This record gives sequence, C-alpha cells and structure tokens, in this order.
Amino acid sequence: MEARPRLLVVDDEQSIRDFITDLFKDQYDILQACDGTDALVTLESESGIEIVLLDAMMPGLDGFEVLEILKSNPQMAHLRIIMLSARTDVESKVNAFTAGAVDFVNKPFNVGELAARIGTQLRLSRADAELKQAKIEAEAANRAKSEFLANMSHEIRTPLNAIIGVSELLATTTLDAAQREYVNTIESGGNTLLILINDILDYSKIEAGMLELDAVRFVLKDCIDAALDLIRNQVLEKKLTLSFTLDPLLPLSFIGDDHRLRQIIINLVNNAVKFTEQGGIRVALTGQKITMPSAFAAKKIADADAFYQLVLTVTDTGIGIPVDRQSRLFKKFSQVDNSVTRRYGGTGLGLAISQRLAELFGGDITVESRGISGEGSTFRCVLVMPSCLDQRVSGEQRAWSDDREDAKRHAFNASANVPNVAPPPLKPFPPLRILLTEDNPINQQVAMKLLKSLGLSADLAKNGLEAVAAVQRQEYDVILMDVQMPELDGISASRQIRQLLPSAQQPIIIALTANATEEDRRACLNAGMNDFVTKPIRIAKLTEVLRNCC
Ligand code: ADP
Repeated sequence: MEARPRLLVVDDEQSIRDFITDLFKDQYDILQACDGTDALVTLESESGIEIVLLDAMMPGLDGFEVLEILKSNPQMAHLRIIMLSARTDVESKVNAFTAGAVDFVNKPFNVGELAARIGTQLRLSRADAELKQAKIEAEAANRAKSEFLANMSHEIRTPLNAIIGVSELLATTTLDAAQREYVNTIESGGNTLLILINDILDYSKIEAGMLELDAVRFVLKDCIDAALDLIRNQVLEKKLTLSFTLDPLLPLSFIGDDHRLRQIIINLVNNAVKFTEQGGIRVALTGQKITMPSAFAAKKIADADAFYQLVLTVTDTGIGIPVDRQSRLFKKFSQVDNSVTRRYGGTGLGLAISQRLAELFGGDITVESRGISGEGSTFRCVLVMPSCLDQRVSGEQRAWSDDREDAKRHAFNASANVPNVAPPPLKPFPPLRILLTEDNPINQQVAMKLLKSLGLSADLAKNGLEAVAAVQRQEYDVILMDVQMPELDGISASRQIRQLLPSAQQPIIIALTANATEEDRRACLNAGMNDFVTKPIRIAKLTEVLRNCC
C-alpha cells in the first residue's frame, strides 16, 4: 500500500493545530510543530513530509523567516509550503510567493477550500517527484546508451581493421583490373563503415553532453586548407570550381578545437560538392572582433589575445534545398527527401553533428536557398573563438590527419574514381627492433603483415604483462602497443616500462588503439607513450610514425 502523504502543521495556537489535524487525519499523516524552531527540528528529524502548512505570525521565528531558511536548504527544496495568515494585504502574499511559498490561504479559512488547495499541492508534489525520477532514469539510460555505442564502436573497429588493413595490403600486390576493382570496393565499403561509426559515436557523445572542445593554438588558414585538400579530387572529378577567400584582416592564429572546426568545414564542403553537378563551390571566411563572451570568462584561456566572431560561408550552385525542408536539415538522420538519399547516399548525421559542434563553439549554422536547382545553397556557420599571438603557434601544431579524415580521404577518393594503384616502392627502413603488443589474433596478423610489407618484422607480446617481460629480456627500438588488453592494459604497461628501464634503453612506444577519442589520445601520451595510431591501421600512417622513429 502506498504511504499516506505526510503534512506538517506549524502554528503557535494549539487549537488551530488540533482543528486542522482533526479535519485531515483520515486522509493524511499529520505532524504538528508549535513554532518556527520546532518546525525546523521536526523537518530535520522526520522523513517523507511533502506539505507544510505554515502560520505567518508566530513568536520567535515567524513564518517568513522559516520559509527563507527552508528555501535556502537544498535538502528542503522539495517541500511545498502553504502559508496560513490573517494578513490579507497583497504585499504579504507577494512576499510569501517571492520567498518560495506555493500557496497562501487567509485565516479564518474555509475548510473545503483548504482541503482543495492541499489536494492540488499534493498532486503537484507527486508529479514533480515523478518528473525528477524520470529525469534521473533518462540520464542513466542516455549514459548507458553512450557507453554501449562507445563499446560497439570499439568492437566494430577491430574487424574493420582487418578488412581495411588487408585490402590495403592486397592493393600493393600485382592485380588485374577486375581484381583491383574488387579491392577498391572492399576498401571503400570499409571506409564508409568507418565514417558511419565515427558519426554515430560523435553524435551520441554530443547528445550525452560528453563532447568537450579542445583549446589548442592553430593557424586558421592551414586548418581550412587541410579540409579543402580532402575534397579536391572530387571537385576535379566533377569538373567543378573551388575558391576560398580569407579575410586578410583576421589574425593568423586562433585558440580552439581545430579538429572539430575542420570536421564542420569538411561536412559543409563535402555536401556542397555532393549536391552540385555544374558550377562550383565558394568558401569564404570573415570575422570581426567582439568583447569577451561570458562563456569564456570562466574558462580563462591562457594566451587569448582577442575574441572573434568568425563567419564561414559555403556557397554552391547545386540542387538547392526547398524552403519548407530547411528546418529539418539539422535534425539527426534527416535528409531532404528519400529520392535524394538514394541517389547520393549519406547518413543524415553530418549537419546535425556540425550544428551541435557549432553550438559548442558558441555559434550556429543556418542555410539559405530558394530550392531552385542550379541556384544552389549557402550554408553560413558562425563561431566564436579567441585569437592568439602568432609566434606561439609553431611547433605545437597537431598532425592534420586523423583517423576520421583518413577514412574520408579514402572514401572521397574512391567516389572520385581515383584508381587505387599500387604505391611506388618505398625507401627501405633501417632495421628496427619492434615489439608488437596486441591480444587480438586478427589484429596481430594484420599488423605483422603490414610491417612485413614495409620490410620490417616484429616480436609478439600478447598482452601488457608479456610486453613488460619482453623489454627486460631484450632491447627494443619501438613498441607498437595496443591499449585494451587482458592481464595488463597498454597504458599501465607503458607506465611500468617507463619506470623500469634506464633512459638509454627506453623504446619509442606507439599506441595502437581502436579507442579513437581525444581523451584516449591524451591518456596514452600521459602514460609516457610517444605517438598514437588509431585502428584501422593504414599503411601510410604506420609508415609515417615508423619513419619518425628512425
Ligand atoms: P548526409 O550524410 O545525408 O549528407 P547531412 O546531415 O550532411 O547528411 O545532410 C542532410 C541532408 O541535407 C542531405 O541528405 C541533403 O538532402 C541536404 N543537403 C545538405 N547539404 C546540401 C547542399 N549543399 N545542397 C543540397 N542539399 C543539401
């Protein structure tokens, strides 16, 4: 049976307390307090009280003072307080409501009215509690969903690693035209899948409020150039034009999340190319100085010089977007119409993600189009970012290419029909003593074969413990270190190795991981690793990091 609602009657007159108790004792569990202090003590010691009938005028603490004390205590915030007072002036009522009372009843009160008012407040109190509970459950479910997606993404990446890795290897062998096309198809399928996983993961992180923007120094023009480079092949293939103008008055360097900014630009420009058959794409970036936005005041970004509102416009001469469909564009999984989707493909997540990212940057994305084919569309993205003094940038730039863009580069190139020809033979590596630490047998094979194709070989450790043991037996130049492993994970293993070996014998440790997030990257570097390669491992990326080791 559900517990009876509990009410506390606070009044200095015994007769009134008893009268109210008699009135409602059949329905409710009634407690009494004879003054303000007694009320506070009772509320502290008794649990489950939902409603307080509070007399305004009492000796000692009066009703208004009790109200104030209760409302300043978060533990008491849920109490619904009905003031009972002989005062009929409006000011008293206003004071009571301002202080947090939910109702005000004049004495002498009408019994029916008081009963009805208590009933209403009880219903509201229950609804409030249900809402809070529902919110807690929804948040827990959302967190569980995000964790599930993060785990799934990890699990899907492992077999994808094999698909993409082996098809890259296959492409380096001698193949006839038909075989080469098959390999291209496998690779492009793998890449599309990878983009999809990244998008879903991004979106779920943003929705769960778990995506935070980095604040690193970067050169604005380089960031945009890198994004445009990705789609240049597609532009050429479709015989479109591509122009980019950058407001010359803008500072060179800014502080923000260049990876996420690039992600927005790539999405907008890729869409522009995708939905344009004739003409071209114009990209422009302008901006103006603004006063420091309040969102930045608390963050205290070191080295911030001035604040800018940046406006990026991407204009195309493509199929355009009907006005009545434009508001839907930024919703997840939303595409203008299904026939368009069937023709062009896509997940409908790109703009939803870009919009959320722009919001994290303190801005937004809007679209203008009359929906006339050939007249095209203009996407306008507003962002707020601090600039910094230029000389500080060099040496701190992050590598332009990450896993997401690798997938996109490959996918875009495949869609642009750039033939997947065997790459030219590489300058041979000097002999490197490599230890591969990897628990998954498929990944072991792929990594070993990728190394072999580079003329290198490696010893194998099947988990962190084996790696720690191996480095004590023998000296290595490089450890390729998986992160998630049984027995001892890659992060702990790296820490142990850094502590165990004298500095002359320290190997270069490169994380090989399916956890593709920025936090993972940071965790690896904090544990003493030198570099970070996300799975699926690409020949080009592996070559690059190993060259850096030489
Ligand atoms: P998708 O991955 O499907 O392209 P987006 O969220 O990036 O997902 O875009 C959603 C939809 O918006 C697209 O499917 C397309 O219908 C429409 N769209 C986006 N950009 C353009 C554009 N430049 N021209 C015409 N339609 C566009």
